[in-house]
Order: sequence, then C-alpha cells, then structure tokens
Amino acid sequence: MTAPLIDPFARPISYLRVSVTDRCDFRCVYCMAENMTFLPKKELLTLEELDRISTSFIRLGVQKLRITGGEPLVRKGIMTYFEAMARHLDSGQLKELTLTTNGSQLRRFARDLADCGVRRINVSLDTLDDRKFAEITRWGKLKQVLDGIEAAQEAGLRVKINAVALKGFNEDELFTLQSWCAARDMDLTFIEVMPMGDLGNEDRLDQYWALSDLRERLASQFTLVDLAERTGGPARYVRLEETGQKIGFITPLTHNFCESCNRVRLTCTGDLFMCLGQEDMADLRSPLRASQDDAVLETAIRAAIARKPKGHDFDYSRQRVDGQVSRHMSHTGG
Ligand code: SAM
Ligand code: SF4
Repeated sequence: MTAPLIDPFARPISYLRVSVTDRCDFRCVYCMAENMTFLPKKELLTLEELDRISTSFIRLGVQKLRITGGEPLVRKGIMTYFEAMARHLDSGQLKELTLTTNGSQLRRFARDLADCGVRRINVSLDTLDDRKFAEITRWGKLKQVLDGIEAAQEAGLRVKINAVALKGFNEDELFTLQSWCAARDMDLTFIEVMPMGDLGNEDRLDQYWALSDLRERLASQFTLVDLAERTGGPARYVRLEETGQKIGFITPLTHNFCESCNRVRLTCTGDLFMCLGQEDMADLRSPLRASQDDAVLETAIRAAIARKPKGHDFDYSRQRVDGQVSRHMSHTGG
C-alpha cells in the first residue's frame, strides 16, 4: 500500500488546489494589473500532464481537488480534465472535485460540471452593484455572472459566494450581500484582502477591512452561532440563527490556522507551493517530463512535502505589509 503524504509537522496532506491557467477574462484590481503579461502557452502543463500530477496526488492520499486559476473555465478544453478527474470520484479515491470561478462562463459549463460529479462550487462576487462590479473587476459584467450563478443552481450545483472585504468599497453592502445570498439559499464567505503581488496601482493597507469589524457589524443584526466546522484552512464559520445561513470568514492575516493546514497548491506551470505565504516551491514539471514512470514524479512530490514549512509570515500589525510575497494570486490560485 502507498504511504500517505505526511509533512514534517505531522499534518496529512489531503487537499490539492490546482491552478489550470494564469489567464482570466477579468482584471480584478486586488488580483491583477490591467496590462498583465501572461505565460507563453508552451510553459503550461498540458491537460494530460495536469491529469498525471493530480492522479499521483490522489494515489498518495489527496481526497479533495479544487480547480482554480486565473479563471479555470477560460482554459481551452478544461472539461476534458474535469471528465478525467470524474473517474477518481467514481472509484471513491477522490471525495470531492470542486472549483473556484468568477462565474462568467457558468451558463456554458454548469451542466457539464455537474455531469462530471462536481457538487459544490465557489463563485467570487464582491458587489451587487453594476457600476462597482465594473470598477473592481475592470472587465467583468455583473449580469453575466448573475446569470452564471442561476445556471449553476439550475444544474443542481450548490453555490457558495466568496466576497473579498474591501474597506470603502463593499462595506455598505454587507447586509445586501447577506440577504441576497439568504434568499437564494447560498452560503457566503468573506475574505480578508491579502498582500499578493506588486500591482503598482493599489495600496494594500488602504483596502484592508478587518473581518473582526465585519463580524461585529453582522452581530449587531443577527445572532451568530460559532460552528465547530474546520476545513484545515483559514476559514471559520458561524450560523446566523435568524436565517440559518452559514457565513465564513477567511482571515489568513489575523488568524493562525497553519497548525491544521492540510493543503498544497500546484501552479499551471507545475510548481508546487507548500505554503501560500512562502516563496519556497518545488518544480514538478521537470520530474514529470523526465520520465513516463510516475514513481519519479511521486518521489519529487514526497520530497516537496518533506519541505512544507510550519506556517506563513503575513502580518499587517506593524502597519506595513510584512511577509509580502511577490507572485500574484492568479499564479498560485488563491
Ligand atoms: N478566477 C477565479 C475567481 O475569481 O474566483 C479563481 C481564482 S481567484 C485568484 C481565487 C480567489 O482569490 C477569488 O475569490 C479572489 O477574490 C481571491 N483573491 C484574489 N486576489 C486576492 C487578494 N489580494 N486578497 C484576497 N483574496 C484575493
Ligand atoms: Fe480573475 Fe479571479 Fe483574479 Fe479576478 S480574482 S482577476 S476573476 S483570477
């Protein structure tokens, strides 16, 4: 039997996030510069290579795959990859296949995703205001995303909304977003803005809205019941007693979640990041291409996991962004 992946701090690695492209049809201001230079296509792992790496991780005990990007649904032929991963759901080795998307392509793909065994998806949506949506995404159209969300629900997918909490931007929409989600039976998670990449046009500290404050505002209108649920990541959940709705808080900067970290991230070029907040990574593309024998790849995966650090170094508390890493979220996949 294959030994499962356990890191040096005795944490089992059961969750792989796979970024399948660095490209996107939006240019969210906190994520990308407007004139992004993307990787040449030949640098990307092919769909077959993505399959081989994902399958190796699953053989080594990964039970949950989250597909992300960039925007995963703009990668050409991406459904071939989802169809391939469905076989691991069928065999029972993989427990969950899911994705994080901006929602723009869901009208086209929701049904196919459901057919591949996807049950729940995360859709990123920071505002319900047309004008503000255009401002924050630069290139996005709110109507298209709302239509995509509707298509996902029609296809039977459970939708969770992820909203980045942005000071002075969506503070005034806290209850609008919450009630809009409640009316559609969708859970809602807020994400604290993270110091990713040097976008040159935004001051990260200016946008920072502490979720402790957001939580207090929610508590002024609702009874918040803490849920014990843990995902091994930076999310904490409460239930609003009055609506039954689950609200999540992702606070990578103010919460220490590293002790239960169960995840690693693969970029679209085959770099494995063992921690979102550290620069260290392992090149899996070279061993992958060096041999058709997956044993070579698996040795490289084990060596990488043996280097997984104890935790990250993000810190806003000193009034400057410490521990900032230079790559963009669209590279490591959020
Ligand atoms: N394009 C897809 C989407 O937007 O959902 C998937 C990739 S995106 C990089 C994944 C998540 O990262 C999104 O929810 C996005 O809002 C979030 N994100 C991007 N940049 C961020 C930042 N600087 N701080 C916090 N969250 C960020
Ligand atoms: Fe694209 Fe998602 Fe980044 Fe927005 S957050 S630019 S939708 S990858």
